[in-house]
Amino acid sequence: MKTKYPSLKNVSELKEVFWLNPKIIPYEEAASAINMDIAAIDDAEMRLKKFAPLIEKVFPETLPSHGIIESPIKEINNMKNKLQELYKLKLSGKLLLKMDSHLAIAGSVKARGGIYEVLMYAETLAMKDGILKEDDDYSILAEQKYRDFFSKYKIQVGSTGNLGLSIGITSAALGFNVTVHMSADAKQWKKDLLISKGAKVVEYDSDFSKAVEEGRKLSDQDPMSYFVDDENSMNLFLGYSVAARRLNEQLDNMNIVIDEDHPLFVYLPCGVGGAPGGITYGLKSVYNDNVHCFFVEPTHAPSMLIGMATGLHNDISVQDLGIDGKTHADGLAVGRPSKLVGKMMDYILGGVFTVDDYKLYDYMRYLHETENISIEPSACAAFEGFIKFEATKEGKQYIKQYNLENKMQNAVHIAWATGGSLVPEEINKQFLKTHLR
Ligand SMILES: *Cc1c(COP(=O)(O)O)cnc(C)c1O
Repeated sequence: MKTKYPSLKNVSELKEVFWLNPKIIPYEEAASAINMDIAAIDDAEMRLKKFAPLIEKVFPETLPSHGIIESPIKEINNMKNKLQELYKLKLSGKLLLKMDSHLAIAGSVKARGGIYEVLMYAETLAMKDGILKEDDDYSILAEQKYRDFFSKYKIQVGSTGNLGLSIGITSAALGFNVTVHMSADAKQWKKDLLISKGAKVVEYDSDFSKAVEEGRKLSDQDPMSYFVDDENSMNLFLGYSVAARRLNEQLDNMNIVIDEDHPLFVYLPCGVGGAPGGITYGLKSVYNDNVHCFFVEPTHAPSMLIGMATGLHNDISVQDLGIDGKTHADGLAVGRPSKLVGKMMDYILGGVFTVDDYKLYDYMRYLHETENISIEPSACAAFEGFIKFEATKEGKQYIKQYNLENKMQNAVHIAWATGGSLVPEEINKQFLKTHLR
């Protein structure tokens, strides 16, 4: 593999890179090439509204937002100044932090896709059984009789941690039997939290792909079991995509305009690709060519980069290039990317950055120090995109290619903070003290 793809030499040598996606095409063409389904995003948004009264009942923490699970967004100018000072850069435009780290229930971006997937499954089962109708108030699903009904069914998922939390907590709250298959890099506190919520946890000494494979096998053997497939689930993907509509509203409320003269740049930490991919899909549908989306992966787990760059998608793993897949960014520790997502990203993703693990802790400290916000190391990968975009020759090439030179002063950059608020205080303190270099 290594000799076959000389362009991936730097990647296989674990160097930080900024890979520009050569296949990206203008939005209109891309939308038809990937059959972009706006109606499906509408449908997902509607379904989440319909479920809001149930969410509000089952998760009282969502009372203030009436059962709508959405995260805050915040301008982080102190962080921007700190980064400019440290890296001796002059970065244009505003820097915002989209705080999915603080999403209710699961404390990570997985609250979007994971919860949506479980709700969708619950709806399908209850409707099929005739105990739920289209125009019912969905909050009835919190009643004991429905919990008893759901308890006959099992939901299983393979996870590096956060998806397991999201699926596990939601499933258990509705009464489902739920088993989470955790990879070796999943943190102990996540396992403990899941068990405390009534989920079953199975541990593997291998990586994410293995946990998924085993989980799927066990689920397939059981006719009452449903496997949440992180790599191939369109429901998860659509749950993530709704983020874009909500973001649009938030930016409107902040009087932030995104248009041809005010480009939006979004930096998304990427594991298997579902969360950043779904968000990108949604963002493209809202902002078309005025949004530029980039993924960020650890140098030790650049799975989406190699899948897209080789065109092999899930037929290549980081191990095929001699990369170990081991990273402190547990949420991004994925060796093999989603093909479903990669094939769509071929047409709409600007590119992929890779980042050294040690920087994640540095970024985490800077954010904590300048803005008093804590997010987990995986989520900090987003900052690498912001810093590197304008400062690299690849970034300059991109800016030139899209005639953005005179628009960069109006740019809006969003670092998508994908997780962190459930990290126990003790562990957060350890993170803040971690120096890998
Ligand atoms: C899961 C996760 C991601 C990436 O999502 P994928 O769907 O795996 O690409 C990013 N950050 C955090 C904190 C996550 O838990």
